[in-house]
Amino acid sequence: MVEQFETEFAQFCEAEYCVGVGNGTDALRFALIAAGVQPGDTVVTVPNTFIATTEAISQAGARPDFVDIDERTYNMDARKLQEYFETQCCPDLRTGKLLNKKMRSPVTGIVPVHLYGQMTDMDPILELAERYKLFVIEDACQAHGATYFSRRENRWKKAGSMGTAGAFSFYPGKNLGACGEAGAVTTNDSTLAGKVRMLRDHGQLQKYRHEIEGYNGRLDAIQAGILQVKLKHLPRWNQRRRTIARRYDELFRSHLDGIILPYESPRTKAVYHLYVIRVKNRDQLQMHLTQAKIMTQVHYPTPLHLQKAYATLGHKEGDFPVTEGAVAEILSLPMYPQLNHHQQERIVQEVIKSLAGEAGSSRSPIVGSFVSEGRAD
Ligand SMILES: *Cc1c(COP(=O)(O)O)cnc(C)c1O
Repeated sequence: MVEQFETEFAQFCEAEYCVGVGNGTDALRFALIAAGVQPGDTVVTVPNTFIATTEAISQAGARPDFVDIDERTYNMDARKLQEYFETQCCPDLRTGKLLNKKMRSPVTGIVPVHLYGQMTDMDPILELAERYKLFVIEDACQAHGATYFSRRENRWKKAGSMGTAGAFSFYPGKNLGACGEAGAVTTNDSTLAGKVRMLRDHGQLQKYRHEIEGYNGRLDAIQAGILQVKLKHLPRWNQRRRTIARRYDELFRSHLDGIILPYESPRTKAVYHLYVIRVKNRDQLQMHLTQAKIMTQVHYPTPLHLQKAYATLGHKEGDFPVTEGAVAEILSLPMYPQLNHHQQERIVQEVIKSLAGEAGSSRSPIVGSFVSEGRAD
């Protein structure tokens, strides 16, 4: 079951190899370790992501550092990444490696996050990675099936097929969800795939012969079986999400005063894990929608650099202004393949009503789209 699913998911991602693991955090952590992260390294990612991205970096022994996002896509801004390398790093004259000047720590990798289902602008990031000899682990946990037009390769590429490796989560609320916890690493590198295969199973390839010390991070056969069945439907479900996104765009079209809709770059085809709008009075809008029995979420309200868990990293408010500006105003509207036209019209009506300052109504509830990460919701 596991091997069959791995073969099919590798095909789906247009990657050579897929290794099933216990969850998305395992996928990130094993990919980082297999890519060669050493204790004390610095790995660069973005501050507006789920904490699993940085947990994996820390738990692989490295220190997460951040660069700000692009205002329109909410994904890593490659210009900021370049600026980071040019102003905050210098070459270590002894080893030739890139060093973070302040920490004197080798910078060895980049983790771009394909947030909300849209791929990050990968070409410039991969160019920087080549220039500075860094690995790139794609956090594709929200982007199963998303594509990006690579100018370097002059073709469309799938999420998880561009970096050194890609990490996927099959948490139930993701675009492809298991019936419990599951994840996978994709890669074109057979050595890396082999290392992940060992890491997920206590460092063994043969029973009780441990090449290295590993983890308990296997993909359950029953989850692989469920995923195999659901994978067949994923292209259609993703297409539904895209249609629903276009319908939201359409319904909001004549009411764009005060609302910023999701921006989809012409070089990507997003799979709309989330449909995220941006408004000035977000909390008021969210309250209005809650009263109208429409469930919304904020992905994510506190950026990682301001989380208590990362107080020791020494960041302060103002360090990543684009992220901080966005998190105060973003709101994820209901988004799932089964959302119907009538429900969407009601959602949009209520949003418009709230922004126009009118009172809420109470009708049938619209829930069910936010299983991901909100385990305690
Ligand atoms: C869901 C998610 C993860 C972690 O996946 P789990 O399966 O919950 O461990 C990591 N990164 C992002 C961006 C996610 O959305």
